[in-house]
Amino acid sequence: MGLLDGADAVLFDLDDTLLDYATARDTGIRAWVQEVDATRHPGDAVRVWRELEERHFRRYSAGEVSFDEQRRARLRAFWPHLSRAADEDLDRAFAAYFAHTQAAWSPVPGAVETVTALAARMPVGVLTNGQVELQARKLRVLGLGDVALFASSELPAPKPDVRAYEAACSELGSAPPRTVMVGDDLTNDVEGAMLAGLRAVWFNRGHAGTSPAPVVSDLRHLLS
Ligand SMILES: [Mg+2]
Repeated sequence: MGLLDGADAVLFDLDDTLLDYATARDTGIRAWVQEVDATRHPGDAVRVWRELEERHFRRYSAGEVSFDEQRRARLRAFWPHLSRAADEDLDRAFAAYFAHTQAAWSPVPGAVETVTALAARMPVGVLTNGQVELQARKLRVLGLGDVALFASSELPAPKPDVRAYEAACSELGSAPPRTVMVGDDLTNDVEGAMLAGLRAVWFNRGHAGTSPAPVVSDLRHLLS
């Protein structure tokens, strides 16, 4: 039995499912810290930046702050010299960091061939929490610019709100029970999708956790 037997359509998460976001972020922050303050411990910087991103991106996803403001909040907490900086200085600093991280954008192994092969068989989309222009740029870098993109900045609500999955299914023209959501985040890609009536596959490259859905460690397993 294949994991996609009986499926009419597949939705993929983007960050850390198709694009190796964590590696790019860590590479980017290391390079930027080296440039700004080479005395700062790179391992600590990576850990602190990860925590700040998680905390403030969650606030953005919950609608508490704007996309730009969650970036600025991360920077104010990360650098003492930016704690009282003006927005335009924070935005300039973020652009400097982001150039480093963007230079390190690369696909998760097997992601591009899996999406391409599936797209020849059925409707395939990407359902992601994030800002549409940025997420579209990531897909283009992966060579997947033609894949239907559903970004939360353009949806009625972000994952794990059921409206996110419903909107994506409706656009793809597929019924939720015959649509499979594939992603690395248990809450956003598995539990939320199942609550909305979709099937799910948890993409897990070695994290602890128990999934109510089938698990793959390599996206290519979806093709068998
Ligand atoms: Mg993800």
